[in-house]
Amino acid sequence: MIDTGRFTENFPLRRKCLKSLVVMGMVLPGSSFNKVYAFSSNLFPWSAPEYDVIVVGAGAAGLAAAIEAADKDLKVVVLEKAPEIGGNTLISGGFYSSVDPERQKQQGIEDSEEFFFKQTYEGGGKQADEVLVRHLVHQAQDGLQWLEKLGLHFKDEVFELYGAHWTRSHTPVLPLGQGYIRTLSGAALQRGVQIQTNHSVIELLRERDRVNGVIAVYEGKKKKFYATKGVILTSGSFAANRGLIRKFSPNLSALTTNNTPYSTGEPMIAAEKIGAELTGMEFIQCLPGCPPGKKYRVRFHNDVSTFIFLDHNGRRFIREDAPRDELRDAVLKQNGGYAFTLMDGAGFKKAGILVQKEAVLALEAGEAWRANSIEELAKKIGMQPEVLKQTVNKYNEGVREKKDIFGKKITLQTLELKEPPFWAAYAGMTIHYTEGGLKINEKAQVLDKKGIPIKGLYAAGAVTGGIHGKNRLGGNGLADAIVFGRTAGQNIANE
Ligand SMILES: Cc1cc2nc3c(=O)[nH]c(=O)nc-3n(C[C@H](O)[C@H](O)[C@H](O)COP(=O)(O)OP(=O)(O)OC[C@H]3O[C@@H](n4cnc5c(N)ncnc54)[C@H](O)[C@@H]3O)c2cc1C
Repeated sequence: MIDTGRFTENFPLRRKCLKSLVVMGMVLPGSSFNKVYAFSSNLFPWSAPEYDVIVVGAGAAGLAAAIEAADKDLKVVVLEKAPEIGGNTLISGGFYSSVDPERQKQQGIEDSEEFFFKQTYEGGGKQADEVLVRHLVHQAQDGLQWLEKLGLHFKDEVFELYGAHWTRSHTPVLPLGQGYIRTLSGAALQRGVQIQTNHSVIELLRERDRVNGVIAVYEGKKKKFYATKGVILTSGSFAANRGLIRKFSPNLSALTTNNTPYSTGEPMIAAEKIGAELTGMEFIQCLPGCPPGKKYRVRFHNDVSTFIFLDHNGRRFIREDAPRDELRDAVLKQNGGYAFTLMDGAGFKKAGILVQKEAVLALEAGEAWRANSIEELAKKIGMQPEVLKQTVNKYNEGVREKKDIFGKKITLQTLELKEPPFWAAYAGMTIHYTEGGLKINEKAQVLDKKGIPIKGLYAAGAVTGGIHGKNRLGGNGLADAIVFGRTAGQNIANE
């Protein structure tokens, strides 16, 4: 994508030049803006890098922070370790949780900020920092509207995402996290923000107790970058760092992860080295994924209203809208550490083309099953047909009577499983999110071990801890990244 590695600058002229390219309408999302940016990056390859703000990581949190800081007229550079921008945001489901009276009312859904707070705080086992949770739920809707104003389109209908606990998850029109990265990177570049890929930040620099720069590795060489206002860490989770997972949650260390391989947490450790406090490091979230030795991850679980979990005998064992940590533990307790998911033809239609594609690939590889009756499906999976039939009948009865035997919430959206063809897939567990990280306050300032803000150091998104407690609600990851990314970008201007 963008490789601006050779581009370092401190010339106001560059800004003028890039701005004039923007005015000429040449900085557009997609390949043309990459070309323009690569061109501009070669204009001044010789100068020394000094900025107002350095942002570490080009996911949702980093790009949101960069936009807000640029809107305060600050000169911003985003350093990204990977050869491409986007991080986990790009490969995420893209689902964003927020109270949204306009959309929710149309679907007959009651909601409020207070209820969102209660669910988020209690869903995290009351282990989160209440002040941070309040900030998240209070700002989530503003964050959603800000994204919409920047040009990110969401579908009209909201749904209950796996582990979201309520029907308030928003789906972008563009698949997965593409819309976020396209919209945010376009807006950042239009504001003159520089994005430098292939720059892995490994150390923080300080002068008289104030963080004033970073050391990044680029093409095997160390490079220093300085910033007058400070540094915002937005480098994401550490789910792909086996050593850290083993250290903080040894029982999960054999599991795979669905995160990008760049989710290894070096900037978080660099901040700890200069005195930052880490919090909640033992809280690791899992989602249904491939069982060991299998190839395909089929996300039949995305929408709580359309699927059930099955054990190896074809029986349900948990309500599908349980907290993600309970679901993780219940699935890992099944034979071989995996279970199955089942949905019907109506759920399959609702699941969207990406999930449908995964299912078809898994079907061809013998890792998913499809049949015109529940009995036939059971035979294909190797379950007793009468047991599975009874499970599905009982579930459908519960949906009709609005009373599920496992206590699953039955809403207007919950579907009976009755329309062929019926589908089933493996559901193991994969490491999805690390709830722990840098301790921050509601201004997104990084705190030291005494709870005092470290001057010039901010953090937002998955690199932080204390916002989700022991269990993050579905759709709150992107809301967190946008809300706290914006907060960090706004507040660093006051340094
Ligand atoms: C498969 C998947 C699906 C998900 N689906 C959802 C969903 O639907 N809804 C939801 O709310 N949440 C979801 N999440 C979680 C969500 O993606 C994250 O909470 C969110 O993207 C975090 O944003 P971020 O900007 O903090 O991190 P990221 O988007 O991961 O960005 C961090 C960036 O920092 C870079 N980086 C790392 N180390 C360095 C370094 N040393 N130097 C420079 N750069 C560095 C990374 O390469 C990356 O680009 C999902 C996660 C995954 C993995």
